[in-house]
Amino acid sequence: MEASTLIDPRVVEACTTVVPVVAHGPLEHGTFETREDGRAVTRCRLYRNLECGEHQGTHEALKPYQKSGRFRIPFTVWIDPEGNQLFRKDGWRRPEEFLLDIRTALEKVPGPHRTREEFAALVKPLDEGREALSSRRYAEAAAKFEEAARPDAPEMIRRAAEEGLKEIRTTGEAIVAAAKGALKGGRNRQARPALDLAARQFPSLECGKEALELIRKLPFPLRTLRFVLEESAEDRRILWIRGDGACFLQVVAQKGGELGLQERRIGFLLGADGWDELAKLIETHKFFDIRTPHPAGLGKGIQASLRVELWTGVSGNVSKDAGKPHPDLDAICDWLTARAKAVAEGTPTFEGPHDPAWLPDGFTR
Ligand SMILES: [Zn+2]
Repeated sequence: MEASTLIDPRVVEACTTVVPVVAHGPLEHGTFETREDGRAVTRCRLYRNLECGEHQGTHEALKPYQKSGRFRIPFTVWIDPEGNQLFRKDGWRRPEEFLLDIRTALEKVPGPHRTREEFAALVKPLDEGREALSSRRYAEAAAKFEEAARPDAPEMIRRAAEEGLKEIRTTGEAIVAAAKGALKGGRNRQARPALDLAARQFPSLECGKEALELIRKLPFPLRTLRFVLEESAEDRRILWIRGDGACFLQVVAQKGGELGLQERRIGFLLGADGWDELAKLIETHKFFDIRTPHPAGLGKGIQASLRVELWTGVSGNVSKDAGKPHPDLDAICDWLTARAKAVAEGTPTFEGPHDPAWLPDGFTR
């Protein structure tokens, strides 16, 4: 069959509507080495896209559908998605016969029929959601699971997606419950990162909305801060501070011997003292009242720019001309510059060509 019927182009095409599985007991077919998707693999000489272990494994799994005692090979057995045997055909099938078998099998299965490609497209958001969930990118995972759980998806996909959504909800609720416990005990420093995480990662869930309400009532409810410092045309530092205290420093510079700008990224955490100092500076120097001729963004003669956004919706976006003192803005910028300098020699999480489109998680342009 593998040398005749199964390689007939009409059969190959029609087989995309079923899941063809070959079962072949522990016979020595011999193997050969080849490459698939760029990696070295060992394949069976008879079924050239399989390992012998695979067709031997299916042989074991299909034992319940085999006759006991002596029987003719090859035989084909047709099974519905629930595992029920539809019918079987003993002996070799010509392409025309096999095409008829496929049609007969499909007619015996009720409900919508999908090709493998259509099914893969339906499964894709589920897989992406699981991947995002395991990396704790909850907002992305929730969006993917919601996409996977759409009404026309097969029930097994919908159920798996709903399980994923449930897991996200449970996680979010646990995070917010812990934060509320910390708030009750007066431990704002512990509550803040959890509330920020919940507000960012679970925006569509009740727990995320509750976290947002709670974080808005905290003093200095920072959501994001971006500070860009241009030391020279070839040396730029960008400091990102997120509401949970996670910080990212991006050092962009022209490096000797390298073509184009290079960058390195260093991650660090803003401690409680640093947080208090920053909050005090923003308040004392009335950052949100500062107006400068240019909004944030570096242009000719601009030395630094600062954008601060609070969870309350209040935001400020200013920039500083080189050589023009501005006592209030300078005080804040000097503190941020010192922070950036202090961590600049830390171990980078990334080092390579400058990517102007890169953004740390939780930030927007
Ligand atoms: Zn084999």
